[in-house]
Amino acid sequence: MDLILALSKGRIFEDTLPLLEAAGITVTENPETSRKLILPTSDPGIRVLIVRASDVPTYVQHGAADFGVAGKDVLLEHGGEGLYQPVDLHIAKCRMSVAARAGFDYETAVRQGARLRVATKFTSIAREHFAKKGVHVDLIKLYGSMELAPLVGLSDAIVDVVSTGSTLRANNLVEVEEIMDISSRLVVNQAALKMKRARLQPIIEAFERASAAKAAQS
Ligand code: AMP
Repeated sequence: MDLILALSKGRIFEDTLPLLEAAGITVTENPETSRKLILPTSDPGIRVLIVRASDVPTYVQHGAADFGVAGKDVLLEHGGEGLYQPVDLHIAKCRMSVAARAGFDYETAVRQGARLRVATKFTSIAREHFAKKGVHVDLIKLYGSMELAPLVGLSDAIVDVVSTGSTLRANNLVEVEEIMDISSRLVVNQAALKMKRARLQPIIEAFERASAAKAAQS
């Protein structure tokens, strides 16, 4: 039975390659140079789909891919329905944070109960975070370049993924609150796990061992 793995280009793809190697699988084409969206591997029974990061859970949920790798941010926004999430891979680590213009007094605005305008791609995470704090927010859904919103008066703050913080600094924004740590997870279609367990289990275990070794190093 063939296996289909869904990955996104960039950091997740690069950080997943060593995990695949640990399972004895080599991806034989580079998605950065190939225009193919279905990549072969050294195992004729395993192929890799290259999809948008936020689409990985959808492909796996519907069984178009048997398994995939997706960030916790993407999984929380998706809801995780139909997905088995056996392993935190400790890759593509970053954090979800609230950021605002350098001069904006976020603490005081929150304390005074001001209604905040928050721009974000991550509306579920943001809604839950501010609801827990009891802060009233008007969420403004964006699909990218969130950093721009406070600079042009579209919002008071943003909720976005931060890694080194250099994108925020370059746009005169400061991180005012950390919401959660983010890393990528292995996700498996629940039906595929039952039907293709013999094929999937050794790969899940190899991923588990390789990511535990990586976590122990960091
Ligand atoms: P940085 O300048 O290093 O803080 O990176 C910030 C930008 O890179 C964010 O706006 C994100 O779009 C992107 N980014 C960095 N790390 C990740 C990650 N692990 N997952 C998704 N996006 C990321």
